[in-house]
Order: sequence, then structure tokens, then C-alpha cells
Amino acid sequence: MENSKIIIAIDGHSSTGKSSFAKQVAARLGYVYVDTGAMYRAVTYYAFTNGFIDNKGKINEEGLKLTLPANKISFKIGPDGKSQTWLNNACVEKQIRTLNISNKVSKIAALPFVREFVDSILRKFGETKGVVMDGRDIGTAVFPNAELKIFMTASVEVRAQRRFKEIQEAGGKETFDDVLKNLKERDHLDQTREVSPLRKADDALLLDNSHMSIPEQFVWLNIILLERFGLQMK
Ligand code: C5P
Repeated sequence: MENSKIIIAIDGHSSTGKSSFAKQVAARLGYVYVDTGAMYRAVTYYAFTNGFIDNKGKINEEGLKLTLPANKISFKIGPDGKSQTWLNNACVEKQIRTLNISNKVSKIAALPFVREFVDSILRKFGETKGVVMDGRDIGTAVFPNAELKIFMTASVEVRAQRRFKEIQEAGGKETFDDVLKNLKERDHLDQTREVSPLRKADDALLLDNSHMSIPEQFVWLNIILLERFGLQMK
């Protein structure tokens, strides 16, 4: 296993810091990072702007199923050096992070044909290994043979507080209660859906970061990468 490239699957609850963690791990290993939640968000944005899901959460499944395959979701590096999500010829990075999209995404992500559409894109990323992917079902459904699986969680109050702080810093208007409600709803929908529900794979390592700093999480991972795979982060 020494020096060979691996797939690292990071799953877990919403707002546990999965994306930031996964992004940094990828950068420090020289791996590719894939934000799978962004793909479900882009599909949801597409559905919303084309009238396939309304503000009550009612979905026109037939219309979405018929038109979705013609869309292209991709990632590009923006002028600030950060990854941006593109839907066809438009950068939708900002639009997909709104509470409006957060409130609809778990319903869209529960549709089997949406999961098939996203999974087929994700599997292509995994062909060359050397990839860090974060999501809800990467270690259980997309890459069940991933060499390293991590399941991230934290108490829902801690997660809501972190997310609320981010929203406030970005000038958002949502209250702490709005954020807490959204997280609880998404946890419930993600864990109870029929296709690929969120759950810890039996062989995933649990990372509960309720009381852990980011440097502490890296110390934890460093030991695992070195001991199990002979890999060293920069
Ligand atoms: O990670 P993020 O919060 O951006 O994901 C948005 C939503 O997309 C999640 O709440 C979940 O419903 C869905 N998702 C999923 N499977 C993944 C990644 C995200 O169902 N692999």
C-alpha cells in the first residue's frame, strides 16, 4: 500500500465540516477533491429554476427525470483559487448555498434517478484513485471498496452554531432556529430515505468533532494515514 494512491470517502451529517476537512486533506496529499453535496445542490438549483420543484417542495418528477441527463455539472477553479460548481455554462457556486436550496436538496437527493445521475459522474472521478470525496453515501454506495472511510458527526446544536456563525459572517439573515430546523430536517430525510440512506459503513472510522479543533482532527488523521497507508500530508 506504501506510496500508492487511495480513495478516501468522508461521509457524515450536514455541517460537520466535512467539505473543509476533505478539501484540506486532498490539498495536503496532492489528491483531487470532489464535493458530492454540491452536485445534489446543483441538481436542486436546476430543478428549482426550471419549475420542477416549487416552494412547497412539490416535485415534478417526470419533467426532472426527462431533462436532467442533458445537463453537465462540473468543477472549475475560480479566480480566488477555490473550487466552483458549474451547471452547464454558468457558475452556480453562490446560488447553490442558499437556505432555499438547502431546504429542498434532501428531497431531490432522495430520488433514485437523481442519485443514479450523480453517481455515474462520481464513479468517473474514482477511476484514477488519488481522490477525496465527501458526502452521505460515498463509503456505503458509491465506493464501498474505498481504502479509507471516515464518518464525521457532531451534536446537532454544535453543528447549527457553526453554520449560523458562517451565515452571519456572510451577511445572511437566517436565525439560529431556522438553521437548527433545517439541519434536523436534513438529518431526518438523509437517514430515512429508501435509496442510499446516510449511515456509517461498518468499516468507517468515526470522527465525532463536537469537541475537537481542526488541528486535532488533522493529528488524528495523520496517524491513520501514516500507519495504515504510509502516506504523509504536506
Ligand atoms: O454536503 P451538503 O450539505 O452540501 O449536501 C447537501 C445535501 O445533499 C445533503 O443534505 C443530502 O441530502 C444530499 N447529499 C446526498 N448524498 C451525498 C451528498 C449530499 O444525499 N453523497
